[in-house]
Amino acid sequence: MTRFPLPSLSLLLFLGLLTGCSAQTDRSVQTDTASTSDTLAVTKSEAEWKEELPHMACFVLREKGTERAFTGEFWDHQEKGVYRCAGCGQALFDSDHKFESGTGWPSFFQPAEGSAVLEEEDDSWGMRRVEVLCSACGGHLGHVFEDGPRPTGLRYCINSAALAFDADSTSVQGVKYD
Ligand SMILES: [Zn+2]
Repeated sequence: MTRFPLPSLSLLLFLGLLTGCSAQTDRSVQTDTASTSDTLAVTKSEAEWKEELPHMACFVLREKGTERAFTGEFWDHQEKGVYRCAGCGQALFDSDHKFESGTGWPSFFQPAEGSAVLEEEDDSWGMRRVEVLCSACGGHLGHVFEDGPRPTGLRYCINSAALAFDADSTSVQGVKYD
């Protein structure tokens, strides 16, 4: 009985997925993106982003992708500090506002500052959700839902790949490296 070369075929498909960030999706850009990008402090071409960002960060920030639950770097990350945008470095979320949501994505009940994120209606995948974007570079971060804990009742469900973590230096008391 002849066996089909399935393993190599799936490997090829897998490799194809890995390079997905360079593959242009034909999903039409939302009409409000143009007005948003006019006000962004950090603007780069998609080619420049692709050059600079790791694959997953590019997939999330620039293609509005979602990492798989429980696979990201920060869903179970407890350290004190600031979560910055992996694209432009703007401070987005504070560890003081992080909570264990059980979803497998880092979750916060509020942004570090209200102005750090933009929120836009997102009707993709047949769902009405509110998308969360970095207000400086327009990168996609995740979504915000109204089932979070007090005091806000909000749950900012954010992709680890869209974040870079800065440990709080004041929590390492008296340590000097000079
Ligand atoms: Zn950003």
